Amino acid sequence: MKTIKVANIPGDGVGKEVVPAATEVLHALADLHGSLKFEFTEFPWSCEYYLEHGAMMPEDGLEILKEFDAIFLGAVGNLKLVPDHVSLWGLLIKIRREFEQVINIRPAKLLKGVQSPLVNPKDFDMIVVRENSEGEYSSIGGNIYKDEDEIAIQNAVFSRKASERAMRYAFELAKKRNKHVTSATKSNGIIYSMPFWDKVFKEVAKEYPEIKTDSQHIDALAAFFVTHPEKFDVIVASNLFGDILTDLGAAIMGSVGIAPAANINVNGKYPSMFEPVHGSAPDIIGKGIANPIGQIWTAKMMLDHFGEEDLGTILLDIVESVTADGFLTPDIGGSHTTKEVTDEVIARINNYK
Ligand code: ATP
Ligand code: MG
Repeated sequence: MKTIKVANIPGDGVGKEVVPAATEVLHALADLHGSLKFEFTEFPWSCEYYLEHGAMMPEDGLEILKEFDAIFLGAVGNLKLVPDHVSLWGLLIKIRREFEQVINIRPAKLLKGVQSPLVNPKDFDMIVVRENSEGEYSSIGGNIYKDEDEIAIQNAVFSRKASERAMRYAFELAKKRNKHVTSATKSNGIIYSMPFWDKVFKEVAKEYPEIKTDSQHIDALAAFFVTHPEKFDVIVASNLFGDILTDLGAAIMGSVGIAPAANINVNGKYPSMFEPVHGSAPDIIGKGIANPIGQIWTAKMMLDHFGEEDLGTILLDIVESVTADGFLTPDIGGSHTTKEVTDEVIARINNYK
């Protein structure tokens, strides 16, 4: 029996509604598998926890989490209770940093039955690998005054180590997919970091002769996401470019409520964290209509991460059959509840042969 120990942190808002739903789905999948077991331990770390304890998680919170294989997180943030910088830095960003989750991955795929904002969407199925530790989001820079002007300088930092790490991750992913990696660049305008990024990309690509590669400037690439998303397989991007592309990817999928994500610790030293793209969705808390698909799809990414790709594929196929048959929450134009959609997914897992 293979056991995966998961720390569940539902967090705030609809996180508390969709994490239990996705957890039930994972239990049903483990039953289907037969020799796989999930051991979930739930932690109430959230803004409400902060009000009671003065911190988003206990002092030894990271020590506790270290013992798990993965972290399954819902959403963090409740502006009515705690300012965002306190809640995010006290939990989400703390975990990402301390556990060296240096890569963020987000698939974008159009599910049958879900309306994309694109006018004529083809079937697209891609995944963005975002370098998540350095790049444009560095803390090097400053403000100066010169000739009576005020100037802000922000330095982008690109190391060979972090760039190669993200690129290799992208190539390894592409091996299991459609064997195509696109690099997001801007070496026609950014003259130090991007030519370096391009050079490293070419070098890493040589290690993977079976993978097709191309390199596109981020502006054209963003436009292409809208006009021809079906042309992409794996896209590797710097921190800023990846940030923008992944939001665009989630948008063309039809709702932020279905978009999954993972923060990966590449060397396996610490647990990786699986959390959907959406936030706490304060406007729909308690109504029972939060879309559970983002969290369920995030569970599929966790399965993939632990080498259970076949089970992950079964799950996504079932989710897609559910949306295709019109089991949709209001954010994607339906009138079904979180529970109805989740129950339908579970029923189809239980009936799967
Ligand atoms: P945060 O600061 O936590 O990211 P946010 O308000 O910026 O919160 P979301 O919480 O993602 O962002 O909400 C953005 C919009 O998407 C809201 O209208 C919300 O209701 C909707 N939304 C987010 N998640 C879901 C979901 N799972 N199901 C349905 N609608 C959702
Ligand atoms: Mg937000």
